[in-house]
Amino acid sequence: MTSFPLQVDRVRDRRLPLQRRLHALRECTLHCAPYGFRATWHHLVVFARIPRRLEDDPDALVRAAEELQRARDVIVPRAMEYAERRRREKAAGVRVPRTRPLWNSWGGSGIAYCPDLEHHPTRPLAEVVQDVLDRHAAGISVATHCLACGIERPRPERACPTCGVHPAGPAAGWCGPSTAERWWRTWHRDLRA
Ligand SMILES: [Zn+2]
Repeated sequence: MTSFPLQVDRVRDRRLPLQRRLHALRECTLHCAPYGFRATWHHLVVFARIPRRLEDDPDALVRAAEELQRARDVIVPRAMEYAERRRREKAAGVRVPRTRPLWNSWGGSGIAYCPDLEHHPTRPLAEVVQDVLDRHAAGISVATHCLACGIERPRPERACPTCGVHPAGPAAGWCGPSTAERWWRTWHRDLRA
């Protein structure tokens, strides 16, 4: 059983070794990664100030898990509401969904995918997720606007120059300059180099 709530409990469990708690946070991020796994992880490291030596601030892991939890708390009720609406639509003979659910993608990465792992919104994750889902529900098109920060897109086929969210989601393909080295630093929480 590797559900999100179970993994959050492990992150919080102070009796566990710090490396196990870090890996539980990784599992949480695999379940809930609105920017895609790497950019979401980068956000957590920066936002929760996860230190290179976990012993220096073990509570940073809990802050990161709570940051993810708040975003998931925005997504789950929307997903349940959508599933219920689809159930009613199907019963009424509507076979093709009227709207495409953004969370139906790996880790929810279709919500606000950021191909460049270091270029993502800097606000709390839950706020960004809420804004994207609200703008999507209001019928604002990704072809003309960035659903994450609200600006009008100068280049509809590119990642948003302001916040880094790509309108094509995980299908965008491009993943930023020299990703391997930057990912290595991000994973090891070595961001001040
Ligand atoms: Zn944007």
